[in-house]
Amino acid sequence: MPDTTISKSPNSDCRILVLGAHPDDAEFFAGGLLHEHKRRGSQIRLVSVTNGQSGHHRDSSDVLVARRRLEASESGRVLGCEYVCWDFPDGSLQPTLQVREAIIREIRSFAPDLVLTHRPWDYHPDHRAVGQAVQDASYMVMVPKIAPGYSVPKQEPVVAYMVDLFTRPVAFRADFVLDASEHLAGILKMLACHRSQFYEWMPWIERIEDMPSEPQAWSDWFKRFFLEKTAARGTRFWDPSWGSLPLLVEAFEVSEYAGKFSAQRQNQLFPACRSNIQGS
Ligand SMILES: [Zn+2]
Repeated sequence: MPDTTISKSPNSDCRILVLGAHPDDAEFFAGGLLHEHKRRGSQIRLVSVTNGQSGHHRDSSDVLVARRRLEASESGRVLGCEYVCWDFPDGSLQPTLQVREAIIREIRSFAPDLVLTHRPWDYHPDHRAVGQAVQDASYMVMVPKIAPGYSVPKQEPVVAYMVDLFTRPVAFRADFVLDASEHLAGILKMLACHRSQFYEWMPWIERIEDMPSEPQAWSDWFKRFFLEKTAARGTRFWDPSWGSLPLLVEAFEVSEYAGKFSAQRQNQLFPACRSNIQGS
């Protein structure tokens, strides 16, 4: 498979937008690539399309929305970027015209070179809805009469899907694969900001029984949990010819429905990544 040596040139004119369904999706699925971009000076903006109102067994939705918004902004501060939560309801998202036009306006105002999102195939209906809405927005973002009032971008951004392990109706294709191990600490620091999610809701919904009761033991426990949760990414997408299996792997699939990707932009858009795209 082709491999590409990566230069460490500054990337200050590169703009990265993540459109995730929930507060925490961006860093859970793409935290390593985001840290690589930060290191190179890219401008980053993280968006949770839903408000996170449903993922809790005790807090009311109002309380939860406020908590999750605060947690997301703390996580954004760790990376050094803005992390916003929109108001669409968590757990009930549909790829409506309203969601599509919000995405079009977001892309026009931030003018990203690369948009990261979910595939339209995934276990979570909100993930599928965001993936579908981004796909629906991808051509329309260039049509001035749609969602008027915002100028269309100079060029349509490249859209890439964040890693998933689902195989039906079609399996994820790992166009770019990142050894994200060196960013593990930074990713865990971002994820730890989402206390209501990872230390409260997830242990409850997943019936986790080995979470320690003492908060000072939570970070070690969560590190083990996160690495177990993400281990299959490496076994699925890491080519052994690249070297021994990394601790943490991320992968990205370029959407065929958005801006055209050219191999010359690999170092800019997917820094430090291995490429499976022929000819790159
Ligand atoms: Zn999610």
